[in-house]
Amino acid sequence: MLNGIDSVFAHVDMDSFFVSVELVRHPELQGKRVVVGGGRGSRLGVVAAASYEARAFGVRSGTSILEAKRRCPDLMIVRPDHLLYETVSRNVMAILREITPDVQVLSVDEAVLDLRGVLRLWGPPMAIADRIHRKIQREAGVPCSIGVARFPIVAKLASKLAKRNGICMLMPREETAFLRDHRISMMPGVGRMTTAYLNYLDVRTVGELVERAPLFWERLLLTRPVENPFPKSVSSELTLDRDMVDRHGVRAVLRNLCRKVASRMRRKSLKAGGISVRVRYGDFQSFEQHQTRIELRYDFEVIRLAEKLFKLADCLSLPIRLVGVRLAPLSVDEGSRPLGAGPRGQTVAAAYRTIDKVQKKYGRGSLFQGR
Ligand SMILES: [Mg+2]
Repeated sequence: MLNGIDSVFAHVDMDSFFVSVELVRHPELQGKRVVVGGGRGSRLGVVAAASYEARAFGVRSGTSILEAKRRCPDLMIVRPDHLLYETVSRNVMAILREITPDVQVLSVDEAVLDLRGVLRLWGPPMAIADRIHRKIQREAGVPCSIGVARFPIVAKLASKLAKRNGICMLMPREETAFLRDHRISMMPGVGRMTTAYLNYLDVRTVGELVERAPLFWERLLLTRPVENPFPKSVSSELTLDRDMVDRHGVRAVLRNLCRKVASRMRRKSLKAGGISVRVRYGDFQSFEQHQTRIELRYDFEVIRLAEKLFKLADCLSLPIRLVGVRLAPLSVDEGSRPLGAGPRGQTVAAAYRTIDKVQKKYGRGSLFQGR
Protein backbone atom coordinates (compact mmCIF):
# COMPACT_ATOMS: atom_id res chain seq x y z
CA MET A 1 0.00 0.00 0.00
CA LEU A 2 0.93 3.62 -0.09
CA ASN A 3 1.39 3.89 3.67
CA GLY A 4 3.96 6.44 4.65
CA ILE A 5 4.05 7.89 1.15
CA ASP A 6 3.77 11.63 0.98
CA SER A 7 1.86 11.98 -2.24
CA VAL A 8 -0.87 10.12 -4.09
CA PHE A 9 -2.98 11.10 -7.07
CA ALA A 10 -5.92 9.60 -8.88
CA HIS A 11 -6.51 10.27 -12.56
CA VAL A 12 -10.15 9.75 -13.55
CA ASP A 13 -10.87 9.36 -17.25
CA MET A 14 -14.34 8.66 -18.62
CA ASP A 15 -14.56 5.73 -21.03
CA SER A 16 -15.55 6.82 -24.52
CA PHE A 17 -17.37 9.69 -22.86
CA PHE A 18 -19.72 11.09 -25.54
CA VAL A 19 -20.79 7.60 -26.57
CA SER A 20 -21.35 6.53 -22.95
CA VAL A 21 -23.60 9.55 -22.37
CA GLU A 22 -25.61 8.75 -25.51
CA LEU A 23 -25.99 5.13 -24.36
CA VAL A 24 -27.73 6.33 -21.22
CA ARG A 25 -30.57 7.86 -23.23
CA HIS A 26 -30.40 5.35 -26.09
CA PRO A 27 -29.96 2.01 -24.29
CA GLU A 28 -30.94 0.26 -27.54
CA LEU A 29 -27.50 1.24 -28.90
CA GLN A 30 -25.69 -0.74 -26.18
CA GLY A 31 -23.21 -3.21 -27.66
CA LYS A 32 -23.56 -1.70 -31.14
CA ARG A 33 -20.94 -0.07 -33.29
CA VAL A 34 -21.71 3.57 -32.49
CA VAL A 35 -19.94 6.83 -33.13
CA VAL A 36 -20.78 10.35 -32.08
CA GLY A 37 -19.90 12.84 -34.78
CA GLY A 38 -20.69 13.91 -38.28
CA GLY A 39 -20.57 17.17 -40.17
CA ARG A 40 -22.94 19.99 -40.93
CA GLY A 41 -25.06 20.35 -44.03
CA SER A 42 -23.92 18.09 -46.83
CA ARG A 43 -20.50 17.45 -45.26
CA LEU A 44 -19.84 14.14 -43.63
CA GLY A 45 -17.32 15.23 -41.00
CA VAL A 46 -15.33 13.16 -38.55
CA VAL A 47 -15.83 10.89 -35.55
CA ALA A 48 -15.76 12.73 -32.20
CA ALA A 49 -16.00 9.52 -30.13
CA ALA A 50 -16.36 5.83 -30.95
CA SER A 51 -17.82 2.97 -28.92
CA TYR A 52 -15.43 0.16 -28.02
CA GLU A 53 -17.31 -2.07 -30.45
CA ALA A 54 -16.48 0.39 -33.25
CA ARG A 55 -12.91 0.83 -32.02
CA ALA A 56 -12.37 -2.88 -32.54
CA PHE A 57 -12.67 -2.08 -36.25
CA GLY A 58 -10.07 0.67 -36.10
CA VAL A 59 -12.54 3.55 -35.82
CA ARG A 60 -11.15 6.30 -33.57
CA SER A 61 -11.93 9.92 -32.85
CA GLY A 62 -10.69 11.87 -35.85
CA THR A 63 -11.50 9.09 -38.34
CA SER A 64 -13.64 10.49 -41.17
CA ILE A 65 -17.26 9.32 -41.13
CA LEU A 66 -16.76 8.00 -44.66
CA GLU A 67 -13.84 5.82 -43.57
CA ALA A 68 -15.70 4.72 -40.43
CA LYS A 69 -18.68 3.61 -42.53
CA ARG A 70 -16.34 1.71 -44.83
CA ARG A 71 -14.91 -0.15 -41.84
CA CYS A 72 -18.29 -0.76 -40.18
CA PRO A 73 -21.13 -0.86 -42.71
CA ASP A 74 -23.69 -1.14 -39.89
CA LEU A 75 -22.29 1.89 -38.07
CA MET A 76 -24.79 3.97 -36.06
CA ILE A 77 -24.01 7.70 -36.19
CA VAL A 78 -25.28 9.98 -33.43
CA ARG A 79 -25.12 13.78 -33.77
CA PRO A 80 -23.13 15.36 -30.96
CA ASP A 81 -25.07 17.10 -28.20
CA HIS A 82 -22.31 19.02 -26.46
CA LEU A 83 -24.63 20.80 -24.04
CA LEU A 84 -25.66 17.44 -22.64
CA TYR A 85 -22.05 16.22 -22.42
CA GLU A 86 -21.10 19.38 -20.55
CA THR A 87 -23.95 18.87 -18.10
CA VAL A 88 -22.92 15.29 -17.38
CA SER A 89 -19.30 16.43 -17.13
CA ARG A 90 -20.25 19.02 -14.51
CA ASN A 91 -22.09 16.31 -12.55
CA VAL A 92 -19.05 14.05 -12.67
CA MET A 93 -16.73 16.84 -11.53
CA ALA A 94 -19.14 17.64 -8.68
CA ILE A 95 -18.98 14.00 -7.59
CA LEU A 96 -15.18 14.20 -7.60
CA ARG A 97 -15.26 17.38 -5.51
CA GLU A 98 -17.27 15.54 -2.89
CA ILE A 99 -14.24 13.29 -2.47
CA THR A 100 -11.71 16.12 -2.30
CA PRO A 101 -11.68 19.81 -3.16
CA ASP A 102 -8.27 19.24 -4.80
CA VAL A 103 -9.60 18.46 -8.27
CA GLN A 104 -7.80 19.64 -11.38
CA VAL A 105 -10.13 19.40 -14.35
CA LEU A 106 -8.09 18.55 -17.45
CA SER A 107 -10.84 18.31 -20.01
CA VAL A 108 -14.54 17.57 -20.32
CA ASP A 109 -13.95 13.92 -19.38
CA GLU A 110 -10.75 13.89 -17.38
CA ALA A 111 -9.52 15.09 -13.98
CA VAL A 112 -6.70 14.59 -11.50
CA LEU A 113 -7.41 14.35 -7.77
CA ASP A 114 -4.83 14.99 -5.10
CA LEU A 115 -5.78 12.41 -2.46
CA ARG A 116 -3.12 13.27 0.08
CA GLY A 117 -5.41 15.29 2.32
CA VAL A 118 -8.31 12.85 2.41
CA LEU A 119 -6.66 9.48 3.15
CA ARG A 120 -7.72 9.71 6.79
CA LEU A 121 -11.24 10.56 5.78
CA TRP A 122 -11.84 7.95 3.09
CA GLY A 123 -9.25 5.26 3.70
CA PRO A 124 -6.50 3.86 1.47
CA PRO A 125 -6.18 5.05 -2.15
CA MET A 126 -7.61 1.90 -3.70
CA ALA A 127 -10.70 2.17 -1.51
CA ILE A 128 -11.12 5.80 -2.58
CA ALA A 129 -10.72 4.89 -6.25
CA ASP A 130 -13.32 2.18 -5.85
CA ARG A 131 -15.70 4.62 -4.14
CA ILE A 132 -15.28 7.15 -6.99
CA HIS A 133 -15.74 4.46 -9.60
CA ARG A 134 -18.99 3.20 -8.12
CA LYS A 135 -20.33 6.66 -7.32
CA ILE A 136 -19.85 7.94 -10.89
CA GLN A 137 -21.46 4.82 -12.34
CA ARG A 138 -24.40 5.07 -9.93
CA GLU A 139 -25.02 8.82 -10.05
CA ALA A 140 -23.92 9.84 -13.54
CA GLY A 141 -24.60 6.48 -15.19
CA VAL A 142 -21.36 6.41 -17.16
CA PRO A 143 -18.25 4.22 -16.82
CA CYS A 144 -14.77 5.53 -16.13
CA SER A 145 -11.24 4.26 -15.60
CA ILE A 146 -9.04 5.35 -12.72
CA GLY A 147 -5.29 5.34 -12.35
CA VAL A 148 -3.66 5.75 -8.93
CA ALA A 149 -0.01 6.64 -8.40
CA ARG A 150 2.43 8.86 -6.59
CA PHE A 151 2.64 11.36 -9.46
CA PRO A 152 -0.13 12.83 -11.62
CA ILE A 153 1.61 11.87 -14.82
CA VAL A 154 1.99 8.25 -13.78
CA ALA A 155 -1.62 8.18 -12.60
CA LYS A 156 -2.62 9.31 -16.07
CA LEU A 157 -0.70 6.43 -17.62
CA ALA A 158 -2.22 4.03 -15.11
CA SER A 159 -5.76 5.09 -16.04
CA LYS A 160 -4.95 4.18 -19.64
CA LEU A 161 -3.89 0.74 -18.46
CA ALA A 162 -7.12 0.47 -16.45
CA LYS A 163 -9.25 0.83 -19.61
CA ARG A 164 -11.96 -0.04 -19.78
CA ASN A 165 -14.03 0.50 -16.68
CA GLY A 166 -11.21 -0.51 -14.34
CA ILE A 167 -8.85 0.73 -11.66
CA CYS A 168 -5.07 0.43 -11.84
CA MET A 169 -2.56 1.40 -9.19
CA LEU A 170 1.16 1.72 -9.79
CA MET A 171 3.09 1.06 -6.61
CA PRO A 172 5.48 3.69 -5.32
CA ARG A 173 9.09 3.19 -6.33
CA GLU A 174 8.00 0.72 -8.95
CA GLU A 175 6.94 3.34 -11.45
CA THR A 176 10.26 3.51 -13.22
CA ALA A 177 10.64 -0.26 -13.41
CA PHE A 178 7.13 -0.53 -14.70
CA LEU A 179 7.60 2.12 -17.35
CA ARG A 180 11.07 0.94 -18.41
CA ASP A 181 10.02 -0.35 -21.82
CA HIS A 182 7.55 2.42 -22.62
CA ARG A 183 8.50 4.89 -25.31
CA ILE A 184 9.34 8.33 -23.96
CA SER A 185 6.99 9.85 -26.51
CA MET A 186 3.97 8.30 -24.79
CA MET A 187 4.66 10.11 -21.53
CA PRO A 188 2.05 12.82 -21.11
CA GLY A 189 3.58 16.22 -21.72
CA VAL A 190 6.40 14.97 -23.92
CA GLY A 191 5.79 16.70 -27.21
CA ARG A 192 7.25 16.33 -30.68
CA MET A 193 10.24 18.56 -29.97
CA THR A 194 11.36 16.71 -26.84
CA THR A 195 10.85 13.37 -28.57
CA ALA A 196 12.90 14.49 -31.58
CA TYR A 197 15.68 15.76 -29.34
CA LEU A 198 15.79 12.58 -27.26
CA ASN A 199 15.73 10.43 -30.40
CA TYR A 200 18.68 12.46 -31.64
CA LEU A 201 20.47 11.48 -28.41
CA ASP A 202 19.48 7.89 -29.14
CA VAL A 203 17.09 7.79 -26.21
CA ARG A 204 13.78 6.18 -27.07
CA THR A 205 12.48 4.33 -24.04
CA VAL A 206 12.03 5.33 -20.42
CA GLY A 207 14.70 2.77 -19.50
CA GLU A 208 17.25 4.36 -21.83
CA LEU A 209 16.51 7.79 -20.39
CA VAL A 210 16.84 6.56 -16.80
CA GLU A 211 20.27 5.15 -17.65
CA ARG A 212 21.51 8.25 -19.43
CA ALA A 213 19.90 11.00 -17.36
CA PRO A 214 18.24 9.74 -14.18
CA LEU A 215 17.82 13.20 -12.73
CA PHE A 216 16.16 14.51 -15.88
CA TRP A 217 13.74 11.62 -15.65
CA GLU A 218 12.95 11.96 -11.97
CA ARG A 219 12.89 15.69 -11.57
CA LEU A 220 11.58 16.87 -14.91
CA LEU A 221 9.37 14.11 -16.23
CA LEU A 222 8.15 11.85 -13.47
CA THR A 223 7.19 14.55 -11.02
CA ARG A 224 5.87 17.25 -13.34
CA PRO A 225 2.23 18.30 -13.23
CA VAL A 226 -0.02 16.85 -15.89
CA GLU A 227 -0.87 20.02 -17.73
CA ASN A 228 -0.81 23.75 -17.52
CA PRO A 229 -3.65 24.97 -15.35
CA PHE A 230 -4.92 27.05 -18.26
CA PRO A 231 -4.91 26.48 -22.02
CA LYS A 232 -2.33 28.12 -24.27
CA SER A 233 -4.94 29.16 -26.78
CA VAL A 234 -8.63 29.15 -27.53
CA SER A 235 -9.75 28.71 -31.08
CA SER A 236 -12.79 27.96 -33.09
CA GLU A 237 -13.23 27.29 -36.76
CA LEU A 238 -16.14 26.29 -38.87
CA THR A 239 -16.38 24.42 -42.14
CA LEU A 240 -19.32 26.12 -43.81
CA ASP A 241 -22.36 24.11 -44.83
CA ARG A 242 -21.40 24.92 -48.42
CA ASP A 243 -18.62 27.00 -49.94
CA MET A 244 -19.61 30.67 -49.71
CA VAL A 245 -18.94 33.56 -52.08
CA ASP A 246 -20.92 36.07 -50.01
CA ARG A 247 -18.40 37.85 -47.77
CA HIS A 248 -21.10 39.39 -45.58
CA GLY A 249 -22.29 35.92 -44.71
CA VAL A 250 -18.77 34.70 -43.95
CA ARG A 251 -18.11 37.75 -41.78
CA ALA A 252 -21.27 37.02 -39.80
CA VAL A 253 -19.98 33.48 -39.19
CA LEU A 254 -16.61 34.88 -38.17
CA ARG A 255 -18.21 37.30 -35.69
CA ASN A 256 -20.03 34.39 -34.10
CA LEU A 257 -16.79 32.44 -33.76
CA CYS A 258 -15.22 35.52 -32.17
CA ARG A 259 -17.99 35.77 -29.56
CA LYS A 260 -17.56 32.09 -28.83
CA VAL A 261 -13.78 32.17 -28.26
CA ALA A 262 -13.93 35.45 -26.36
CA SER A 263 -16.54 34.18 -23.92
CA ARG A 264 -14.69 30.90 -23.51
CA MET A 265 -11.55 32.85 -22.68
CA ARG A 266 -13.31 35.13 -20.20
CA ARG A 267 -14.94 32.18 -18.49
CA LYS A 268 -11.42 31.06 -17.54
CA SER A 269 -10.48 34.62 -16.49
CA LEU A 270 -7.91 34.91 -19.25
CA LYS A 271 -6.98 37.61 -21.71
CA ALA A 272 -5.31 37.28 -25.10
CA GLY A 273 -2.05 38.79 -26.28
CA GLY A 274 -2.60 37.89 -29.92
CA ILE A 275 -5.13 36.82 -32.49
CA SER A 276 -5.05 35.01 -35.82
CA VAL A 277 -7.68 34.52 -38.47
CA ARG A 278 -7.69 31.76 -41.03
CA VAL A 279 -9.47 31.48 -44.34
CA ARG A 280 -9.60 28.31 -46.40
CA TYR A 281 -10.97 28.31 -49.91
CA GLY A 282 -12.95 25.65 -51.72
CA ASP A 283 -9.75 24.49 -53.40
CA PHE A 284 -8.13 24.04 -49.92
CA GLN A 285 -5.68 26.93 -50.23
CA SER A 286 -5.39 28.49 -46.78
CA PHE A 287 -4.31 31.93 -45.63
CA GLU A 288 -3.73 33.19 -42.14
CA GLN A 289 -3.09 36.60 -40.62
CA HIS A 290 -1.86 37.32 -37.09
CA GLN A 291 -1.53 40.23 -34.81
CA THR A 292 0.29 40.16 -31.51
CA ARG A 293 1.37 42.57 -28.78
CA ILE A 294 -2.21 43.49 -28.04
CA GLU A 295 -4.61 42.91 -25.18
CA LEU A 296 -8.04 41.47 -25.87
CA ARG A 297 -10.84 40.66 -23.45
CA TYR A 298 -14.22 41.48 -24.93
CA ASP A 299 -16.21 40.32 -27.94
CA PHE A 300 -16.15 43.66 -29.71
CA GLU A 301 -12.37 43.94 -29.38
CA VAL A 302 -11.90 40.46 -30.81
CA ILE A 303 -14.42 41.10 -33.58
CA ARG A 304 -12.86 44.41 -34.58
CA LEU A 305 -9.41 42.88 -35.04
CA ALA A 306 -10.70 39.65 -36.54
CA GLU A 307 -12.56 41.56 -39.25
CA LYS A 308 -9.46 43.56 -40.05
CA LEU A 309 -7.34 40.40 -40.29
CA PHE A 310 -10.04 38.67 -42.31
CA LYS A 311 -9.81 41.41 -44.95
CA LEU A 312 -6.06 40.80 -45.19
CA ALA A 313 -6.32 36.99 -45.19
CA ASP A 314 -9.13 36.93 -47.75
CA CYS A 315 -6.83 37.59 -50.68
CA LEU A 316 -8.48 35.49 -53.41
CA SER A 317 -11.91 35.98 -54.85
CA LEU A 318 -12.83 32.32 -54.49
CA PRO A 319 -15.66 30.68 -52.57
CA ILE A 320 -14.71 30.17 -48.91
CA ARG A 321 -14.87 26.75 -47.30
CA LEU A 322 -13.72 27.46 -43.77
CA VAL A 323 -13.03 30.37 -41.41
CA GLY A 324 -11.37 30.23 -38.04
CA VAL A 325 -10.14 32.46 -35.27
CA ARG A 326 -7.59 31.73 -32.60
CA LEU A 327 -6.59 33.69 -29.49
CA ALA A 328 -3.04 33.11 -28.24
CA PRO A 329 -1.00 33.55 -26.15
CA LEU A 330 -3.34 33.64 -23.17
CA SER A 331 -2.52 34.93 -19.73
CA VAL A 332 -4.38 35.37 -16.49
CA ASP A 333 -6.56 38.48 -16.50
CA GLU A 334 -6.27 40.18 -13.14
CA GLY A 335 -8.68 42.80 -14.43
CA SER A 336 -6.18 45.52 -13.61
CA ARG A 337 -6.88 47.96 -16.41
CA PRO A 338 -9.92 46.92 -18.40
CA LEU A 339 -10.03 49.31 -21.39
CA GLY A 340 -8.31 51.98 -19.42
CA ALA A 341 -9.44 52.80 -15.94
CA GLY A 342 -11.95 55.45 -17.01
CA PRO A 343 -15.70 55.29 -16.39
CA ARG A 344 -16.32 53.89 -19.90
CA GLY A 345 -13.93 51.01 -19.20
CA GLN A 346 -15.73 50.23 -15.96
CA THR A 347 -19.11 50.30 -17.69
CA VAL A 348 -17.99 47.91 -20.43
CA ALA A 349 -16.44 45.55 -17.90
CA ALA A 350 -19.67 45.55 -15.88
CA ALA A 351 -21.79 45.01 -19.00
CA TYR A 352 -19.70 41.99 -19.96
CA ARG A 353 -19.91 40.55 -16.47
CA THR A 354 -23.68 40.61 -16.93
CA ILE A 355 -23.53 39.18 -20.46
CA ASP A 356 -21.30 36.36 -19.27
CA LYS A 357 -23.61 35.57 -16.37
CA VAL A 358 -26.71 35.44 -18.57
CA GLN A 359 -24.90 33.30 -21.16
CA LYS A 360 -23.73 30.93 -18.49
CA LYS A 361 -27.29 30.42 -17.37
CA TYR A 362 -29.20 30.49 -20.66
CA GLY A 363 -26.64 29.63 -23.32
CA ARG A 364 -24.45 31.66 -25.62
CA GLY A 365 -27.21 32.67 -28.03
CA SER A 366 -29.33 34.23 -25.27
CA LEU A 367 -27.59 37.59 -25.08
CA PHE A 368 -24.65 39.25 -26.80
CA GLN A 369 -23.48 42.69 -27.74
CA GLY A 370 -24.97 43.90 -31.02
CA ARG A 371 -23.09 45.91 -33.58
MG1 LIG B 1 -11.72 9.63 -21.94
